[in-house]
Amino acid sequence: MTDSLATLEAKIQSAVRVFLFLDYDGTLAEFAPTPDDIFPDPEIIRLLEDLTAIPRIEPAIISGRKLPYLQRLLPVKGLLLAGTYGIEIQTRDGEILHRADSALIQPPLQNLKSRWQQLIQQTNGIYLEDKGWSLALHAKDAEAAEAERILLMAESMAQKLDSALFRILGGHRFLEIAPQAANKGFTIQALLAETLDQADTAVYLGDDDKDEEAFAVLQELGGYAVKVAPPNTPTRAQFRLDSPAAARAWLHKVVVCCSTAEY
Ligand SMILES: [Mg+2]
Repeated sequence: MTDSLATLEAKIQSAVRVFLFLDYDGTLAEFAPTPDDIFPDPEIIRLLEDLTAIPRIEPAIISGRKLPYLQRLLPVKGLLLAGTYGIEIQTRDGEILHRADSALIQPPLQNLKSRWQQLIQQTNGIYLEDKGWSLALHAKDAEAAEAERILLMAESMAQKLDSALFRILGGHRFLEIAPQAANKGFTIQALLAETLDQADTAVYLGDDDKDEEAFAVLQELGGYAVKVAPPNTPTRAQFRLDSPAAARAWLHKVVVCCSTAEY
């Protein structure tokens, strides 16, 4: 059972600084048909410009998408972008940070890529995405039994990689292999742990299991999680919004509240 958002709005209004972490797909935007669809949404860009313009709000996008796609989706000056779950970060000043070692990650990943390409070449509806820092298989357009068979084989190939370096991420007809640091929880820890003060508030809006990892870390640091999902969806978040449209409407409200509050 989640709480009324009015409680969270009051905390945001009284905070000196508000760290606002936002997932993109399924949270701010409705899902794109494929991960390579990059349709910048003027309404979302405007919303993030408005949030970024409020001095005491520090918005950040924490997404599974690769950073170059986020840069094209959200050309907003002063907005922090964390791509591939936080492996690649564009800071508020525009500096680019990498939280994994390319020399260690690339050789095994490229080796696995050619094995996965061979595995899927006879199958329709499975898409291999090379994100640079990770590899993902998207199988939602494949026939169900075939998708399951291929993803299981792909997973057993991925399990042969060094688990000290890599982690396997799942999802609905989805499999991804990424560096261990590709974890939204670690990313929140890295971005927040040393800067969060008692007078500050941290809020995270997200829709899936990768966001739940961030919710846990954020809650441990005293922050608040908002699940973007229909009622009765299991979550550890304290608050909930029904859909990306509801999330955008609520953030518009935050803009109005914080723009008029006396700070
Ligand atoms: Mg999402």
